[in-house]
Amino acid sequence: VIFFGHLGLGDAAASPLRRDLPRRWVLLGTVAPDLLDKPVYFGLSWLSGRRGWGIVRGTRSFGHAFLLAALVWWAGRARGDARLKALALGMATHPVLDFLSDWAAFGVASAGRGSAALWPLTGWGFPVPTYAGLGEHLRALSSPVLLSCEAAGLLWLAWAFSRRRA
Ligand SMILES: [Zn+2]
Repeated sequence: VIFFGHLGLGDAAASPLRRDLPRRWVLLGTVAPDLLDKPVYFGLSWLSGRRGWGIVRGTRSFGHAFLLAALVWWAGRARGDARLKALALGMATHPVLDFLSDWAAFGVASAGRGSAALWPLTGWGFPVPTYAGLGEHLRALSSPVLLSCEAAGLLWLAWAFSRRRA
C-alpha cells in the first residue's frame, strides 16, 4: 500500500475504534510510519554509502513496528492527549495494510519477511526490502493489487469527505 491506500483504508479500518479521537491525527498516523522510516533509511544509506546501516536494512523500521504505536498510545494515555492516541491508532493500521497488500501481491511468506510489525520479537534486524532493485520496485508499484488499494483508499476518502459536507 502506498499513500492514498494508507490514508483511506487506514482511516476506514480505524473508524470503528476511533470514537471521538480527532480524525486528522488518525490520518496523519496512517502515513506516519513511511514519513518516519523512509528518511531514516535513505539518510543512513546516504551517510554510510551502503544500502541501509546496522539494523535498518530497509524502509520499514521503527515506525512500522506496533511497539512504536503502542508507546505513542501509552504516552497519549499518560498525558490525557487524544491527539497522540489518534496518531497511534492510525500508525497501527499501517503495518497491517502493508502486510495484507504484500500477501496479495507476493504471498504470505514474503509478506511476513517484509514486515517489521512485530519487531523486536522477530529479531533485531529490520526487514530487507522485498524488492531486488528499483526496476522491480517500480513494477511492484504498478501491480493491480497496489493500484486497487490506492483506488479504494481514494474512494473511501471521497465518500467520507462528501458525507461530512452533506
Ligand atoms: Zn509502509
